[in-house]
Amino acid sequence: MKFSDFCKYLEKIEATASRLEMTSILADLFKQLSADDIKPGVYLLLGRIGPLYEGKEFGLAEKTVVSAAVAGLGVEKKVFDKVYQQLGDVGEVVYKLKQQSNSLFKTDPDLSFVYQRLRKIADLSGKGSLTAKKEIVADMIREYPALTAKYLARLISGKLRLGFSDMTVLDGLSWFLKGDKSLRPLLEHAYHVRPDLGLIAYLVKTKNLNGIETIEPEVFVPIIMMRAERVKQIPDIIEKLGQCLVEPKYDGFRLQVHKKGNEVKMFSRNLEQVAYMYPDLKQAVLEQISAESIIFEGEAIGFDPQTDEFLPFQETSQRRRKYDIEELSQKIPLKLFVFELLYLNGQSFINKKLMERKAKIRSILKSEPEANLVIAEDHLVSKTEEIEVLFDQYVSEGLEGIMAKKIDGVYKPGAREFNWIKFKASYSQKINDTIDTVVLGYYYGKGKRSEFGIGAFLVGVYDKNLDKFCSIAKIGTGVSDQQWRELKHLFDKNRSSNKPKEYFVDSQIVPDVWVAPKFVVEVSADEITYSPVHTAGKSAGYHKNSGFALRFPRMVRLRSDKDVYDITTVQEIGRLVKI
Ligand code: AMP
Repeated sequence: MKFSDFCKYLEKIEATASRLEMTSILADLFKQLSADDIKPGVYLLLGRIGPLYEGKEFGLAEKTVVSAAVAGLGVEKKVFDKVYQQLGDVGEVVYKLKQQSNSLFKTDPDLSFVYQRLRKIADLSGKGSLTAKKEIVADMIREYPALTAKYLARLISGKLRLGFSDMTVLDGLSWFLKGDKSLRPLLEHAYHVRPDLGLIAYLVKTKNLNGIETIEPEVFVPIIMMRAERVKQIPDIIEKLGQCLVEPKYDGFRLQVHKKGNEVKMFSRNLEQVAYMYPDLKQAVLEQISAESIIFEGEAIGFDPQTDEFLPFQETSQRRRKYDIEELSQKIPLKLFVFELLYLNGQSFINKKLMERKAKIRSILKSEPEANLVIAEDHLVSKTEEIEVLFDQYVSEGLEGIMAKKIDGVYKPGAREFNWIKFKASYSQKINDTIDTVVLGYYYGKGKRSEFGIGAFLVGVYDKNLDKFCSIAKIGTGVSDQQWRELKHLFDKNRSSNKPKEYFVDSQIVPDVWVAPKFVVEVSADEITYSPVHTAGKSAGYHKNSGFALRFPRMVRLRSDKDVYDITTVQEIGRLVKI
């Protein structure tokens, strides 16, 4: 396919606000793309150059793309700036100036060729790479047609926001195969095992459903992590699970470890590669794991080597830093409490029962008291009182609470189900647990906070049924002066000149500045209440014409380890208030 034809599809997608129509445009695009083009095509649709977990980026700020565009268009910077002031979007400016210039474009390249050039931009690194990257961008803008140049400028500056999620692509694939949404669960499962939409699309295109049904985990490709449901009180655990396995809930960060031979990679919950931050754990994996290839999971938590006590999350999380790694690993050593086995020596374990996975991981992890890798403690229980005793004991040891697991449960990638139930110590009187929210926008501060330029922010939760982020609270407490400054800086880097497309964010409240839904903030509150101005759960009619709201919400912490699709859902809140 010509890249210019691909751009016509982008234009069509952009012009529609209907998700259904968008899905059918995608299905049509998948039909037109050849087997060779579908993988790069899908990455580019999502504004990426490869699967998310590869973490490959163009490494060019919008400012740099602008200067490359100025060179490519052969205009003066001030001409560009003037049009930019009117249009506010680098792609639109490139399009307009390109059309005005009347210069005939030289080539109308194929998608695969453009993809190779884009990959080259992402691959270049080191000295002189910035100039080389800029030259490629300038050449492309100079040589290619206006519409192509417009979308390339947006794509490279990270501003290709077509307003759909990975899930919409899966719906598109389902429509492509069957003309409706019915294959989405199957496709979603495949995606949770191998979160590479390009690969999934390629398999669908070349093998129909056969490629999807037989999909298996692969070492060094992260598996979307299974998550826990929650209940309101401890007796509900036995009611849901019967006899179950209870483990401590460690308050650190989850790691999925992949090893093949002497190579080790680690992934965080949002699929970032993080092994470089934890040389101590990497070494421990090599020393303590006796397997050729393996995927397993655990929770890493800092401990005080003098007292052997766990450290609070705030201290542990200092280890998630990109610099001073050696020094920090001395100061805050980590223990990784291993609780899952997902793959071993060529064989997937995700469909095996919990007790079998546990027994196997025990047999291949050499655990000694002083070691950095330790098997998570577990207890087989069948009575509420037993769980209560364990809960009190763990909380008094500085742990967060308990995780109760279904003994014959399989590992369901990406699922949040009652296979795992978390029960945490209360942060407040009435809600037992904190809520993970996404930041939707912020307000300029008043009084003292005007100095920071931010005084509160609007947050939302995820509506799984609507695939939208819906507002639930405005937060102005629990944030230190230093944190306000940091939040303002972070949010500004991702501010959005207008409300993200309707079907992505649902909010009647309009903050002073919209922020692209990227940041996860854990909040606590006294109660879940209702409010006519918030949209969380509103259309589902949980309570008259109101949505859910939080009473006395306060920020607990920024959760940079969590992905926005990993946050609390409207449906979970619905269950919490109903119980
Ligand atoms: P939450 O982040 O509140 O949804 O709780 C689920 C998280 O608890 C998991 O993603 C892990 O990071 C963490 N966790 C701590 N201890 C355990 C455990 N024993 N089993 C599973 N997850 C655990």
